[in-house]
Amino acid sequence: MKIIVTGGAGFIGGNFVHHMVNKYPDYEIINLDLLTYAGNLETLKPVEDKPNYRFIKGDIADRAFIFELFEKEKPDMVVNFAAESHVDRSITDPESFVRTNVMGTTTLLDACRTYGIKRYHQVSTDEVYGDLPLDRPDLFFTEETPLHTSSPYSSSKASADLFVLAYQRTFGLPVTISRCSNNYGPYHFPEKLIPLIISRALADEDLPVYGTGENVRDWLHVSDHCEAIDLIIHEGRVGEVYNVGGHNERTNLEVVKTILRELDKPESLIKYVTDRPGHDRRYAIDPKKLETELGWKPKYNFDTGIRQTIQWYLDHEDWWKHIVNGEYQNYFDNMYGKR
Ligand code: NAD
Repeated sequence: MKIIVTGGAGFIGGNFVHHMVNKYPDYEIINLDLLTYAGNLETLKPVEDKPNYRFIKGDIADRAFIFELFEKEKPDMVVNFAAESHVDRSITDPESFVRTNVMGTTTLLDACRTYGIKRYHQVSTDEVYGDLPLDRPDLFFTEETPLHTSSPYSSSKASADLFVLAYQRTFGLPVTISRCSNNYGPYHFPEKLIPLIISRALADEDLPVYGTGENVRDWLHVSDHCEAIDLIIHEGRVGEVYNVGGHNERTNLEVVKTILRELDKPESLIKYVTDRPGHDRRYAIDPKKLETELGWKPKYNFDTGIRQTIQWYLDHEDWWKHIVNGEYQNYFDNMYGKR
């Protein structure tokens, strides 16, 4: 089985590459990544010498490059993680989100239908469903919840999902989609809430919290997400969407205070900043379909998962400090030479 994993130098894609390379020594795992600011090959250090792993630098929205790659490699599966993924950046530069998240996805889909594929899997997000009110804890997103996006990021992800489903209906492409809640865990780029708070708290810097910090996110450990995708690509039904989430709802302020407690840092570091425009209030996933149909169950609850994650950041200061001071961008040149 030859699998192209796109965006494998990012947070979740990197964890997924580790998972697949270690679990399936007979598979060939090709990590295709453009190495944007969010791509970091240092994340792949633990697997880079394994015989079933290869890295290729490239852009999923570059049609000529992608078709040439598929012609040469003839992959059995594609798992598409590659994306512009930061909501704040989508507010200042929406177009790059359309290019990678929408046009990149359609380019991959076109290559799959041209060269044939056993499975195309799209890694999507619960943000495509919009948000839920804070005073209705009984409401959850199911796979039937209408798409109702708030940000340019979520709009680009929803558009991509619609193309994926249309390619199944129109061209018979064997596709699946997973829509996951917020992930946390090792190798998370320090612009996102949890690693941002850990790295800044360790340096006794101000901790920016949007609005009053009451927005609720549903947190899932990244390794539970990787397990879910592994199950879906092997056993999921073609044409289906699967929600992935672990019922770990926390307000942003609770998350920040938990980290401060674990690091023994004062709450006076918290600085409330002007809320993000269009900020979603609450996300909460109902993962029943994945649990009943495919037998998936998350292994982590948030309290133990966050403690382990904090410990990981304490044990891997080099990894995130290289990002904070920009050194990680030299890694590719040192490893593979300038291109
Ligand atoms: P990330 O920003 O950490 O990684 C994205 C990766 O994609 C980077 O390595 C980057 O270099 C690469 N990339 C960007 N543009 C590319 C292009 N044009 N061609 C090839 N590679 C390109 O993102 P992440 O947090 O790991 O998210 C991965 C996927 O999971 C995304 O599709 C995201 O929408 C989805 N998702 C994320 C979360 C979350 O909590 N982080 C939750 C649900 C779904």
